Amino acid sequence: MAGAQPQDKKMIKINTNENAFPPSSGVLKALADFDGRELRKYSSLENNDLRGVLADNLAVHQDQIIVGNGSDDILALAFLSFFNSTDPILFPDTTYGFYKVWADLFRIPFEEVPLSDEFEIVTTDYVNSVNGGIVIANPNAPTGIFKDLSEVEAIVAANQDVVVIIDEAYIAFGGESALPLLEQYDNIFITRTFSKDAALAGLRVGYGIGSPKLISVINAVKNSYNPYSVDLIAEALATAAVVDSAYYAQVNAEISVTRDWFSAELRALGFEVLPSKTNFVLTKPASISAREVFEFLQAKKIYVRYFGDKARLSDYLRISIGTQDEMSKVIQVIGDLFE
Ligand SMILES: *Cc1c(COP(=O)(O)O)cnc(C)c1O
Repeated sequence: MAGAQPQDKKMIKINTNENAFPPSSGVLKALADFDGRELRKYSSLENNDLRGVLADNLAVHQDQIIVGNGSDDILALAFLSFFNSTDPILFPDTTYGFYKVWADLFRIPFEEVPLSDEFEIVTTDYVNSVNGGIVIANPNAPTGIFKDLSEVEAIVAANQDVVVIIDEAYIAFGGESALPLLEQYDNIFITRTFSKDAALAGLRVGYGIGSPKLISVINAVKNSYNPYSVDLIAEALATAAVVDSAYYAQVNAEISVTRDWFSAELRALGFEVLPSKTNFVLTKPASISAREVFEFLQAKKIYVRYFGDKARLSDYLRISIGTQDEMSKVIQVIGDLFE
């Protein structure tokens, strides 16, 4: 095992869309200041500290927010709470893999709607259909493509008898949030996470935003399943992260600049790069297979995501955006491959 550590330090881990930067100083201070003796007690059932700062930050009412153990927790609860129809729920054929897993697990009928040849979500597919609910990640993953808010609104407006979930895991990297739609529609449920934009993937905190009625329904399910899902440390640190939103706005803007630079560099090498509003890009290498690039990078201790022979993604790699230094190194290494 000796010697592994220096290697690991040199490793560039850009395979799971974690934030390139550390959590804010306020988060680190909240961790250092946390009184471990408090852990004798249960965490808060209402999570009013965290929901309070989130409500202020998002300009919504606190009873429009539910927090949970990562947005996976919130999304799973939302599937359980909102999708009870015999009509299938709809989501894209290329999107966050867990939607299908939860639909299967909870025996919810579903239909995977193909993206266009350009990997775009086709709005009319969701507007003119009988369905038991809709789930859309915006920006979508792993494409990175952002769907214009007017089209999201068209989908929400056309499906007012079911719940439309908008998964905004990557909204901080250049997209436009569907939050304003909450004023007009009570069938929209937006999910967010601290994992990507707040550099807290290991803390496990996510949240959902919807009408007070939707929130009370999902809360009832949460309370009969795992009421204390946000622990004391997680609530303290996530609350500090919301307070430090200026820091995060700055680092996430920096990541977005690096992403655009990195995308241009890849295109200059002949790669196809989908237009991304996230902290990753989906790219198709030129004149060489995705697998070969993946293996070449891995040998150089650069870890990106290869989807294997998953039909539409087999020619593509998903590369998370690290720091500018890391991404410069990645471009240099990929450049070597073509020499
Ligand atoms: C990462 C991710 C999630 C899950 O986030 P957690 O809060 O870490 O559970 C949900 N949806 C999408 C699209 C993601 O990329």
